[in-house]
Amino acid sequence: MSTQRSAAGLPVLDTPLFLLDYDGTLAPIKQDPMQAFPHEAVVPLLNTLKRHHPVWIVTGRHLNDLAVLLDVQLDAIGLHGLQRGVVGQKAVAAVSESVQEEIMHMKHLLPGIKEARIEDKEYTFAVHYRGAEQEDVVIDALKDWLDHLPASLDAIWGKKVVELKPKGVSKGSAIEELLARFPDHQPLYIGDDTTDEAAFQTLHSIRGAQAVTVKVGAGQTCAKYRLPDVSSVVAYLQRYTTV
Ligand SMILES: [Mg+2]
Repeated sequence: MSTQRSAAGLPVLDTPLFLLDYDGTLAPIKQDPMQAFPHEAVVPLLNTLKRHHPVWIVTGRHLNDLAVLLDVQLDAIGLHGLQRGVVGQKAVAAVSESVQEEIMHMKHLLPGIKEARIEDKEYTFAVHYRGAEQEDVVIDALKDWLDHLPASLDAIWGKKVVELKPKGVSKGSAIEELLARFPDHQPLYIGDDTTDEAAFQTLHSIRGAQAVTVKVGAGQTCAKYRLPDVSSVVAYLQRYTTV
C-alpha cells in the first residue's frame, strides 16, 4: 500500500486498477442522460491514466450510448455488468433469449406514466422519473408494476430511475471476474449510486484492506472513503498524473 495521502485523505496507490463509474462520478448528472458530458478535464485525464495503469469504466449505460459522450477508448463494463467491451467499439452482452423475452414482457406491462421516460438499452430498459412533479405517485405506479417481476429478473433503483436486469448480474459480479485478471494491482473503485454498492462489497470481500472504495456525494454507503462531487473526483485522479 502507498504511504502517500491526498488532500482529501485518500491514498494514492502505487499500482492502481482504476474502476470508474461514469454518471455522477466523471460527469455531472443531467435530466437528459444524453446531455451528461464528462467534466471538462476528464478526457485528457483518462488518456493520461490509461498510458500508465489499467482503467475500466463500470457503468449502467449501454456502451454505445457512453461512446457518444465519452470520446476515449477504454475497456468498459456496461449495463450494470451485463455488457463487456471497449467504449467506442463493439460490445457484447450475454443475455439468454428467455430472459430477453421476460424483459420485453415487463416493458409491455409498463403502465402509461406521463412523467416517466423510457431509456431503451437494447437488451433491457430503464424508466427515468427525474423532474416528475408527483414523484410519489410515479414511484407507487412503478412498484405496482414490479409486482409482476418474474424470478429471473431483478429491479434496480438508482437516482430517479428503475431498471431491470437478469438476476445475479451486477457491477459486483462483473468486477469479480476483472479482479482475477489483475492480481498484482490495487483496485480503486469510485462510484456514486446504489448500483456501485455491489461493487464496493465485492471489492471488500475479495481484496479486503487492499481495496480502495470511494462513494461520491451523500447517501448511505459501505465505501471506505467519500468525495463530495465530480470535481473532487477529478482532482483526486489528477494526483495520479503527477506521481
Ligand atoms: Mg453513477
